[in-house]
Amino acid sequence: MATFGTLSDRLTETFRNLRTKGKLTPADVDGTVREIRRALLDADVALPVVKEFTAKVRERALGDEVNRALNPAQQVVQIVNEELIAILGGEQRRLQFAKNPPTVIMLAGLQGSGKTTFAGKLAKQLEKDGHTPLLVAADLQRPNAVNQLQVVAQQAGAAIYAPEPGNGVGDPVAVSKAGVEQARRQQHDIVIIDTAGRLGVDAEMMKQAADIRRAVDPDEVLFVIDAMIGQDAVNTAKAFQEGVDFTGVVLSKLDGDARGGAALSVASVTGRPIIYASMGEGLDDLEPFYPDRMASRILD
Ligand code: GDP
Repeated sequence: MATFGTLSDRLTETFRNLRTKGKLTPADVDGTVREIRRALLDADVALPVVKEFTAKVRERALGDEVNRALNPAQQVVQIVNEELIAILGGEQRRLQFAKNPPTVIMLAGLQGSGKTTFAGKLAKQLEKDGHTPLLVAADLQRPNAVNQLQVVAQQAGAAIYAPEPGNGVGDPVAVSKAGVEQARRQQHDIVIIDTAGRLGVDAEMMKQAADIRRAVDPDEVLFVIDAMIGQDAVNTAKAFQEGVDFTGVVLSKLDGDARGGAALSVASVTGRPIIYASMGEGLDDLEPFYPDRMASRILD
């Protein structure tokens, strides 16, 4: 994966230098931790996350588990691996379904983050698994958004509920509620609500998303974030957490040539799990997110 190319190379280099050593002196550990810190910062990982991460690695690397290890350098790599998994959220977290269908999934995020594309990807994947999702077009902000979801729905072979004249046009809350009612009537077991975003965090947009959340009481609120937004990731994620209290994160555009900081910051800063990795413009480019596999890719 391109996203972690540079970070991955830098860490590999750091560990190569370490491997030439037998016992590790505190100076060796400090030097290694300093290099890890620089590599993470250059990858746009948020400073508080970097600080916490390197402090933990340092403490453990100076402790007994490394001292007693047959191969201290290998043990340090193992520690970095474990701590990376921890900041990526630890255990894999799957999408949660309602006991009584339909499961309502609301999407939130900035404009251009990849919400509509993800809605199509998710619908397609859920259909493959035997579900009958209904996409709901509640992004009424951009004139073309409803149309775009229609195209994506068609590509995914999924049903869509879109507002028609006289049917709550202009009111995303009414459209969302009507979409859930339609799913109930037509026995769709999942509803995916696409909501409006803005280019930056915006109070009105956030209020609208919060109103939709209150009105439809979703089982999952997925915050879609573009992995390429770098240092802005943390503030954006915090604003959405405050605004809509999302239950999970979707990292999009992980296929891009970005530095990957968003991926490594968001779960740790919000305490919310990353559930999907979206990695391409095609509707099949979606994978569940596995913290351990992501850590392995970084340390590969
Ligand atoms: P929305 O405004 O949040 O609904 O974002 P869109 O779904 O319209 O996506 C914005 C742009 O990003 C579109 O040109 C998509 O084709 C593109 N896009 C979405 N997801 C991905 C992804 O995972 N990888 C890449 N490379 N492009 C993506």
